[in-house]
Amino acid sequence: MTFRATVLTLFPEMFPGVLGHSLAGRALAENAWSLETVQIRDFAEGKHRNVDDTPAGGGAGMVMRADVLARTIDAASPEGDSRPRLLMSPRGRPLNQQRVRELADGDGAVILCGRFEGVDQRVIDARGLEEISVGDYILSGGEPAALVMLDAIIRLLPGVMGNEASGTEESFETGLLEHPHYTRPQEFEGLTIPEVLTSGNHAKIAEWRREEARKLTAERRSDLLPQTSQPVTK
Ligand code: SAH
Repeated sequence: MTFRATVLTLFPEMFPGVLGHSLAGRALAENAWSLETVQIRDFAEGKHRNVDDTPAGGGAGMVMRADVLARTIDAASPEGDSRPRLLMSPRGRPLNQQRVRELADGDGAVILCGRFEGVDQRVIDARGLEEISVGDYILSGGEPAALVMLDAIIRLLPGVMGNEASGTEESFETGLLEHPHYTRPQEFEGLTIPEVLTSGNHAKIAEWRREEARKLTAERRSDLLPQTSQPVTK
């Protein structure tokens, strides 16, 4: 079954955006995945079709209404839809390659993009939305976050990436950051390619890459390394 993405947004024209190009764009044209956008405002009522209102308890900004969002979700993802319902949110679990892979192995996703100060908590609870963050910073809306997440998912879908092997050797897939890369020319501004890489000795090359990856990960992201047992202190 092809991966089916349904994006609930106030800005459907932002899609497919970057996902209309390159790998993801070709895959979309070839139906390796499908994309549907739903305009949240279509589910608002009244003359002004308000999707947001002032925060209960006061304070700055506006909050997206639970009733409007619930109607949008129910229309886009009726009962029986097995796809996870995701809310792009800086308060969510930080997205990682493991969750990306799980999502890519599924039927698709229903993705709600927030705007303003965020969404009424009651719709998150009532519709069981899984909050997903793309990092510890604040975007102006969920759309760029959804595009980032979908990009990461789509490249893992069957048949999307030309060279299947390159998908499994990347940073994070091995639990480590990737080793450095080099290509021609052999000399660039006086800098040469590490000799081992031009040696033709594949075992040595693999060993060098593993070691570089380990060093780089220890330097930059020691949090990714397997936890070495800590001495117990009282
Ligand atoms: N007031 C909120 C931020 C709202 S930003 C807070 O302080 O937590 C508006 C919308 O942008 C959010 O509802 C969410 O959908 C999206 N967004 C912002 N930053 C994000 C992030 N790091 N990851 C995922 N979505 C994000």
